[in-house]
Amino acid sequence: MSSVDPSLSIANPDLKDADVVQKAGLALAGLGVLVLFLSWGGVAIPPSIGLPIALLGILVGTVIYSARLYLNQPEGIKNNGVWFRSLTSRGVLGWVAGIVLTGFYVLLYWFPEYIGFKASGNEGFVALFDPLSMFFKGKPASQWFLYGTLYTLCITALGVKFLFKYRHNRYQFVRTLVVIASQLFLAYLIPEILAGLNYNDVTTASGEYLGYFNTDLKNSWPLDYDFFYDWQLNAFQEPSYQPVGTLYLIIGIAMFLVVTPIITYYVGKRWYCSWVCGCGGLAETAGDPFRHLSSKKLSAWRLERWLIHSVMVFVFVMTAATIYGYFWNTGEVFGLNIYKTFQQPYGFLIGATFSGVIGVGFYPMLGNRVWCRFGCPMAGYMGIIQRFKSRFRITTNGGQCISCGNCSTYCEQGIDVRSYAQKGQNIVRASCVGCGVCSAVCPRGVLNLENGPEQGRTDLPPIIIGNESIKVSN
Ligand code: SF4
Ligand code: SF4
Repeated sequence: MSSVDPSLSIANPDLKDADVVQKAGLALAGLGVLVLFLSWGGVAIPPSIGLPIALLGILVGTVIYSARLYLNQPEGIKNNGVWFRSLTSRGVLGWVAGIVLTGFYVLLYWFPEYIGFKASGNEGFVALFDPLSMFFKGKPASQWFLYGTLYTLCITALGVKFLFKYRHNRYQFVRTLVVIASQLFLAYLIPEILAGLNYNDVTTASGEYLGYFNTDLKNSWPLDYDFFYDWQLNAFQEPSYQPVGTLYLIIGIAMFLVVTPIITYYVGKRWYCSWVCGCGGLAETAGDPFRHLSSKKLSAWRLERWLIHSVMVFVFVMTAATIYGYFWNTGEVFGLNIYKTFQQPYGFLIGATFSGVIGVGFYPMLGNRVWCRFGCPMAGYMGIIQRFKSRFRITTNGGQCISCGNCSTYCEQGIDVRSYAQKGQNIVRASCVGCGVCSAVCPRGVLNLENGPEQGRTDLPPIIIGNESIKVSN
């Protein structure tokens, strides 16, 4: 009996199968992932062989696969099938990915011994990264070195995939190059090299530990919530870390007091959230296939405002208590223990659970910007500036909009972009991270990310329906 395809689509409704080159790329990347899992499972793979196979396999395999996938197609929007693939439509594969990611974060934060981190000598997964850590800083890997290496690998490999996918759009191309470079240099290589030069994490020959401070220059307070913790403030001032320690202290303070408000005034929060931030970088690259899963409901918008501003208040209060404790040399404020009342709950609830476990682990369920949208106090801080005192807006040429909804579908921040476009209204929203994807996927060129005079940027224009055929004057 012959089977009849019931689809009435004028385009081919079936997803194309991977060809042999794509399959080879997938196999290579799969081999890399397999090596990671085998080492985690305790299979004795010599790290000097296993690590290059894992890292290069994932990187080269992903590049081969995505080059073949996207360069074979014309330039333009390429999200075909995202609502039908199991991984990207909350199907079985999506749930498996979510559970594996969430489980990994739980072990990373609270049970690192289960991924092989041992003070007496690493095993398994963490031990696989020992040669690279020895190369940078002459000591075995920690779970955080493993994490930083994999994080950078994900942003680089999947960033290249993003470059192929959005190569029709110059904004996306340049932005993604900056995202990859920021992670690679500012968050990974420079900190590891500084650690190798004994600038931020030293135990002396006599066994005295001189302390640690964070050397990721772009990890600004309040995202870097422990910037003012006493151990970090002391490490900044440690004599043997100078002049680097003092420089990082000054730059860190300047970042949130001066740099952030000024740049956000001129270009909106996009300079940080979509161009340099590590969390945003992962969301834009590894999280790109999940961006359509962000909720567009009004209730989600309401929840977003409550949550993000609550976290902001929490971090401000916690930091105020921390600074008070540091300068008055006390562990209490108003009779409350600073560590137990403020720092420990913030670190557990926000620093680990929200930003890590939920923020990344839930990509396949809730979209790629769960943390940035609902929790990040840095995004909240810049969002207030962007909403009330900035030159940034997305302009909409409402007469051209055909209401296809692409923009709203792929807005990772859950903004109903189409509703603004239909009215020809500027989009001035605190949560917009300026990723520009709404503009990149618009088939009519309706949306433009612009910086301009503050005056009139939130004025409501007449409501335009169709090509200025009907106008509702205000
Ligand atoms: S409105 Fe556009 S630029 Fe802003 S977050 Fe959404 S998709 Fe990105
Ligand atoms: S603005 Fe563009 S992408 Fe959004 S609904 Fe209108 S035509 Fe579609």
